[in-house]
Amino acid sequence: MEKISYEKKIPLRYDVDVFIAGGGPAGIAASLAAARQGKEVMLVESQSCLGGLGTAGLVPAFMKFGDGVNFLSGGIGREVLNNLRNEGGTGFEDSQEREHTSIAIKPEVLKRVYDRLLEEAGVNFLFNTTLIDVQCQAAQIDAVICAAKSGIFAVKASAYIDCSGDGDLAVWAGAPFEKGDEEGEMMAGTLCSLWSGINFKECLKMADADTGPSEDCKRKPTCNLSTHGINPAARLEDAMKDKVLSQEDYHLSGMWFQTEHIAGANIGHEYGVDATDERSLTEALVNGRQRTLEYEKYYKQYLKGYEHMELVATGNLMGIRESRRIMGDYVLNIEDFKKRACFEDEVGRYCFFVDLHCTRPGKQDHRKLLDRSTALRYKKGESYGVPYRCLVPRELNNLLVAGRCISTDRYMQGSLRVMPGCYITGQAAGVASALMSEQRCHNRDIPIQKLQDRLLKMGAYLPNALK
Ligand SMILES: Cc1cc2nc3c(=O)[nH]c(=O)nc-3n(C[C@H](O)[C@H](O)[C@H](O)COP(=O)(O)OP(=O)(O)OC[C@H]3O[C@@H](n4cnc5c(N)ncnc54)[C@H](O)[C@@H]3O)c2cc1C
Repeated sequence: MEKISYEKKIPLRYDVDVFIAGGGPAGIAASLAAARQGKEVMLVESQSCLGGLGTAGLVPAFMKFGDGVNFLSGGIGREVLNNLRNEGGTGFEDSQEREHTSIAIKPEVLKRVYDRLLEEAGVNFLFNTTLIDVQCQAAQIDAVICAAKSGIFAVKASAYIDCSGDGDLAVWAGAPFEKGDEEGEMMAGTLCSLWSGINFKECLKMADADTGPSEDCKRKPTCNLSTHGINPAARLEDAMKDKVLSQEDYHLSGMWFQTEHIAGANIGHEYGVDATDERSLTEALVNGRQRTLEYEKYYKQYLKGYEHMELVATGNLMGIRESRRIMGDYVLNIEDFKKRACFEDEVGRYCFFVDLHCTRPGKQDHRKLLDRSTALRYKKGESYGVPYRCLVPRELNNLLVAGRCISTDRYMQGSLRVMPGCYITGQAAGVASALMSEQRCHNRDIPIQKLQDRLLKMGAYLPNALK
């Protein structure tokens, strides 16, 4: 491909303590944590709201905050959940118990909660502003370049945090990364959606209509209806045979009810989407919008209670489960999950099962993944540690990474990528960035005990903190 040079003088518009790229769950937790340590924080978000996949992407629910005994997303995770509840932003079936399974989200309420929390903490945040480049000298980031309506500008900071979900900042700064499985294939994405006109009480009657829990639902007791012993996936094979569904997809995560008539949906898969390529994303969004209509037919024709459902919206952000994993000083791996690992530099503990989705359609892969993920589930009260080193990218000194692209293998990404997990790593990165800025030290040189002390003060769950 032909290349051209492009040179331009741009304004250095901000010089702050901490710069954060991306305002999803990780970026929110990181910015609040850093600002509450007294730091001047600048966050840029390319969408028009905070919340990432949980708002702009219409992901319908929080997965577990707790391990059945302990609340693991203590601190900012707890604060977000409490605020959302106070404003009526969780599903009508919400309860204390659901903190240990899943909780439906009303995305408009969540957007306002995030706006308010960041405003109150004094975080300087900009929407419709995208990180587009990074200036580095050896292992040190000098400045980042952002593009917005007013043009291109630079930001300098003592510490930088990549919460872009795809590791844009880290990769452009030169961090090593992995992407997908051994063949570079990634878990399918899903364009989430919002529906009205559903009759929850009628849906419950499906239990009598030969749609008892499938093997899938029994093993994955997180979906709203499956907690009632009902399986919305029961007729998928019929719908595939009838060509109502054009793709051989046996994995239906389902719907989470916001009210008795409105539900957020995580249904259908887009295979082969690469979140780091806008052409691939565009194709997935276009196809996802079409596929949503196929599922409308499926729900209306094969299940009870959905006859009058109407599509309200699909997400603005393509639902991406997996893209890059930034390689850090430690790579959290499946053996850590199996042994419920503890680490000296633990910044939190988490427990969600290893939730892998297929990279391609078909029954064989689905069964394989189901069997694997069944084996990779914890009992009540069990969890694994998340070491600080997973947030520290190799070969870079003043950058941290939080959220779904931290340093893990694919299995652990399948567990820790859910939003309560992202609050844990975001919060830790925020406090660590404050320490880097105060002590003028590199990411890997911050005092771990001090980091853990500050996290404990914020409410983090750290039973193994250094004494
Ligand atoms: C289909 C689907 C269903 C899911 N279901 C659940 C569920 O039920 N429960 C649950 O807890 N989790 C669920 N997850 C996982 C969870 O939503 C995400 O993994 C989580 O939101 C990741 O948080 P994050 O902050 O790392 O990234 P994101 O939420 O992806 O946020 C990243 C933000 O960074 C912004 N950004 C990206 N690049 C740039 C840039 N260059 N400049 C500026 N801004 C940028 C994006 O616009 C985005 O707002 C699901 C995910 C998917 C895809």
